[in-house]
Amino acid sequence: MARPVIMSVDDDPQVLGAIERDLRQRYKSGYRIVKAGSALEALDAARQLKQRGTAVALFLVDQRMPEMTGTQLLAEVRKLHPESRKVLLTAYADTDAAIASINEIGLDHYLMKPWDPPDQKLYPVLDDLLSEWKSRAHLPYDGIRIVGARLSAQSHAVREFLSHNQVPYQWIDVDQDSAMRELIAAFPGGAARLPVVFLPDGTYLSAPSSLALAEKIGLQTQATNPFYDVVVVGGGPAGLANAVYAASEGMRIVLVEQNAPGGQAGTSSRIENYLGFPNGITGADLAQRASAQARRFGAELLTAQEVVGIRRDDPYRIVTLASGKEISSYAVILTTGMAVRTLEVPGIEPLLGLGVYYGAALSEAVMYGGREVCIIGGANSAGQGALFFSRYARRVTIVVRAAGLSPAMSHYLVERINATENIDILTRVEVASVNGRGHLEQIVLRNLDTGEDCTLNTEAMFIYIGTAPHTEMVAGLLERNDKGFILTGPDLPRLNGKPRGWTLERDPFLFETNVPGIFAAGDVRAGANRRVAAAVGEGSAAIYSIHKYLETV
Ligand SMILES: Cc1cc2nc3c(=O)[nH]c(=O)nc-3n(C[C@H](O)[C@H](O)[C@H](O)COP(=O)(O)OP(=O)(O)OC[C@H]3O[C@@H](n4cnc5c(N)ncnc54)[C@H](O)[C@@H]3O)c2cc1C
Repeated sequence: MARPVIMSVDDDPQVLGAIERDLRQRYKSGYRIVKAGSALEALDAARQLKQRGTAVALFLVDQRMPEMTGTQLLAEVRKLHPESRKVLLTAYADTDAAIASINEIGLDHYLMKPWDPPDQKLYPVLDDLLSEWKSRAHLPYDGIRIVGARLSAQSHAVREFLSHNQVPYQWIDVDQDSAMRELIAAFPGGAARLPVVFLPDGTYLSAPSSLALAEKIGLQTQATNPFYDVVVVGGGPAGLANAVYAASEGMRIVLVEQNAPGGQAGTSSRIENYLGFPNGITGADLAQRASAQARRFGAELLTAQEVVGIRRDDPYRIVTLASGKEISSYAVILTTGMAVRTLEVPGIEPLLGLGVYYGAALSEAVMYGGREVCIIGGANSAGQGALFFSRYARRVTIVVRAAGLSPAMSHYLVERINATENIDILTRVEVASVNGRGHLEQIVLRNLDTGEDCTLNTEAMFIYIGTAPHTEMVAGLLERNDKGFILTGPDLPRLNGKPRGWTLERDPFLFETNVPGIFAAGDVRAGANRRVAAAVGEGSAAIYSIHKYLETV
């Protein structure tokens, strides 16, 4: 935590030097002494300190300055640092102004010049004010701070990105913090676009993309080598397992992830059936451990980079990123998993991120503390979501089309949900439409037996209605089944005993697609058992096939 600041302001260099000397003498071990030779310089410094998240304990300001009086300056800095103590340095003739400003700006004290000897005339006053400040001040958070509107899709996206990447941050609701509003409104060029992300080095990003944010906070986003043995596309359990085994066996490997390592599993509030964790493990913890393990073995993990295409240029396989950059390798493995299916109902589009969320959106839980939330879907992920949100929300309503939660949901989850008082279940209903002005207010539900509509007032709706594979980037290149999942090894359709377009003598290896050297594992593969352990197993086992392939190039 940076030391809090004592700022002295005077346009007379001699007086300023004397104040600074006396302040340093007594307070330099606990405070940073900052001086400003004019009111405007002081205002600028006060803004910078607010931007950096550094607390100002005390302003000691001369009343007579050409650009603005000390009282006027204190009125301005009070908007940015409302908790700071404010002391005016006055001459005898300014006493009336000082007394008036006690009420006007909440002046804490005024000192007469000269203040000699400081032991009697300066330090006793300042000691009292500083100890009072210390006992009451809420010391600012000196990590990353996100300032945004609670009901904003962009703010939600930035929070999700940081929390999935396990980067701690402080959230500041701009509507609840007038000092932050003041700071942002004074940014050059007018009000910055929200959300604004303040970094500990004093810089900021306005409405940043995931890539810009990742680069700024020091996540690896660019490959360091021009060529790799293997490129892994997707950083869920399958991709991470593949990276761990490949790197541990000495392959040059880079993993490219569009969002954050962990994939679907990373959004799970508790995975209870993964071998070796009898009390369960959060998806975030599992992702963090796996990423650290992969890196320790020398794998490169790129974040916030989307793969938009893969091409074959024998013997190389080339992966194209959304930025246009390319990464070359001998082999590629697709572990792109699945994304939640979208709910196509009237009214939903403008409310995305404004009360309507796909998947767990764990970072939103605190926002809906004490409120009504709704879970759409009846499989395990919906059950986990309902239990997680029940810890924060006043009431959680699960909406399912089936007649009950079983058998789509695991027995242990159903039992736990039944035992949770603030969870309700509505069966045989589906979402017909959603309404809300600027934020979700109401869901219209249709009874599947009677066709009748009823309304449910709720502020948040988390949708878990199944998933579709992430395979658009290989359409036309790789064989997929009718649902878009990638076909591999023995599952590939054959023509005269060979997969279509296959020119090699040998058959495709296990996990190999119809293009030699391109593999698929985990949820994205047709026929995969969609579980964390299965994805980890496939990602690890595919290394054997990749090894065999690398021996041929
Ligand atoms: C909320 C929830 C709870 C779950 N709970 C459990 C549980 O308790 N137990 C259990 O066994 N299973 C659980 N599952 C299922 C399990 O998480 C999945 O089976 C598993 O994560 C699949 O792993 P994967 O690596 O194949 O794919 P995913 O986890 O889907 O990971 C794929 C990754 O690829 C990335 N990606 C996709 N396209 C691109 C691209 N073009 N460029 C770059 N990156 C890309 C994605 O961002 C993602 O990170 C749960 C799933 C969810 C959603």
